[in-house]
Amino acid sequence: MRRVVVVSNRVSLPEKKSGQAGGLATAVAPLLQAEGGLWFGWSGKVHEEAEDQPLGFAQAGRVRYATFDLSPAEHEGYYNNYANGVLWPLLHSMPELMRFSRADLAVFEAVNARFADLLEPVLAPDDLVWVHDYHLFLLPRELRERGVENPVGFFLHIPFPAPDIFALLPNGADLLEAVLSADLIGFQTEADLLNFAAAAESLLGARRRETTRLLWAGREITLGVFPAEIDARAFAERAAAAAATAPVERLRRSLAGQSLILGVDRLDPSKGLVQRLEGYRRFLETSPAWQRRVTFLQIAPLSREKVASYQALRRELLMMAGQIDAELGDPDWTPLRVLTRGESRATVAGYMRLAQVGLVTPLRDGMNLVAKEFVAAQDPDDPGVLVLSRFAGAARQLEAALLVNPTDPDSIAEAIGRALAMDRRERQRRWRVLWEGLVDRTPEEWGRDFLHTLERVAARRSGAELGPLSGGRSAPFGAVRPALAPGLFFSRSSNAVN
Ligand code: ADP
Repeated sequence: MRRVVVVSNRVSLPEKKSGQAGGLATAVAPLLQAEGGLWFGWSGKVHEEAEDQPLGFAQAGRVRYATFDLSPAEHEGYYNNYANGVLWPLLHSMPELMRFSRADLAVFEAVNARFADLLEPVLAPDDLVWVHDYHLFLLPRELRERGVENPVGFFLHIPFPAPDIFALLPNGADLLEAVLSADLIGFQTEADLLNFAAAAESLLGARRRETTRLLWAGREITLGVFPAEIDARAFAERAAAAAATAPVERLRRSLAGQSLILGVDRLDPSKGLVQRLEGYRRFLETSPAWQRRVTFLQIAPLSREKVASYQALRRELLMMAGQIDAELGDPDWTPLRVLTRGESRATVAGYMRLAQVGLVTPLRDGMNLVAKEFVAAQDPDDPGVLVLSRFAGAARQLEAALLVNPTDPDSIAEAIGRALAMDRRERQRRWRVLWEGLVDRTPEEWGRDFLHTLERVAARRSGAELGPLSGGRSAPFGAVRPALAPGLFFSRSSNAVN
């Protein structure tokens, strides 16, 4: 394969021992380590002189890292306010948490342009460019405008909402148009793909050709579903090895024979933590026989601490946790333990193996790798039970879990009761089905699948000489884009890509 250039907001630098708590790093790092290539993006550092500094380079194994820092104003406008204060909640269908301002959008646009300014000079003509996630929606167009003709793929790790929710984004049409400069756009689930295609049709007037092709501005863009994977065998080994380590042993002793219910999520409004705690409270209230016989450990490392909705969630969650322990606990029994710091991934794997119940109840989630990791971590002889939100992308692959509606605390309470009471044979049977759905896939294959598709799609594009890649910009920001006649977009490309 040609050299792979992964571009993501944040680069997981090799010196960081435990890596980031996040799905993107978990999915991408193994692919790059296996294939070699360049990982380009923000270093995670923020300081005043950042905008004048050149790229920094590092090498570890087969991966070269090219990173740059952000200024405080960039970090605030691009990362905190627009990417995480607007796009994240909107794309998770939580528009009420959106805080839009044109000033933040201008910084978001400028930082996407800066990514392109810094990236373009380090690209070789043969590179495959793989742009990751919502922070960089505008980057494909920025690259085309700088004359980059390489194959460009874009993968959205998070969900794409129904078109009428997406339409709430004031610059939605422009954002779609920018990402449509890519050759291939990948999604976690078919539902996300269909929502995206419908939004491109209704906001831009793009035309659909079969399920996976969009015709826009004289070009054909391929859409595809690539569910992010974990290395289940490696995770299983890690969990088994961790089970004998001191932190896991300490947790086991502290439980004194109680059943462990475990949650592991960044402290994020999309993860359904408030409803989950409420569900646990209802479970204890409606199943008093389980009181003193269970402990719920929620690991919820702080995330995006500068964003107002995350601060509000932290306050609410810690207040609820205090109430549950104060009102339902005993001097010698703490029903709920909440930790807001991160743990090493190995230790988390060991905790997962110890747990009888894994609670993974996001209100909406692109994939949710924790759900897959929980399955992989179990002892096949005596597996725990996964309680999983229907609205996590992972639910499409993990139908043998106990699926719940995460907005309904009673549904969570019932599932906890069912999971704790489930006999061993049913646990084994469900676990085997879940495991078999995961075990033959790896993040490396997920990445190769995407990249091979990108190569094929781009080869057809260059073979067909589809004309200039830069589709041009939409109407000025804020203007309403009329739905244009489809024929305008369906010109020379009609027979070009098959
Ligand atoms: P998201 O990308 O929204 O954070 P995912 O469930 O897809 O959600 O991915 C989270 C990843 O981060 C998983 O691989 C998980 O093991 C890891 N992770 C989450 N919390 C922690 C933690 N406290 N310590 C270490 N790793 C964590």
